[in-house]
Amino acid sequence: MAWEGVQERRAGKEELDDEWVTYHHDLSMPQGCRVGGFPSWYTTDPSPMNCEACAAPTILLITVSSREWDGRDGSWMPVEEGDTAEDLRDPCPTKFAVGRDGLLNVFACPTDPGHPHRFSVQ
Ligand SMILES: [Zn+2]
Repeated sequence: MAWEGVQERRAGKEELDDEWVTYHHDLSMPQGCRVGGFPSWYTTDPSPMNCEACAAPTILLITVSSREWDGRDGSWMPVEEGDTAEDLRDPCPTKFAVGRDGLLNVFACPTDPGHPHRFSVQ
């Protein structure tokens, strides 16, 4: 992405374990399953996720991801996995498969937990 390239050049790109640090893979959204935070919209443009019952903007409840860290550079790999032999490092220990190696975002209404959830597959 052009924007990412500009940001990386401005940041002066740093080296991490002989790999270049990139905004997308190393500095933006943490990878893997998580609770809360911000949704990743890497396959589509961001889309308003308003509650279907009351129209309030929803919040990200959970993310279910096909990968716990990027298999290329592993910058989001848990420290505990760092001692594991490289050929045993599995970026998909949960064996979740969302879409085509993607992730599922589940959004909740902040005004009433009984309102229907919204979903986004990226
Ligand atoms: Zn609502």
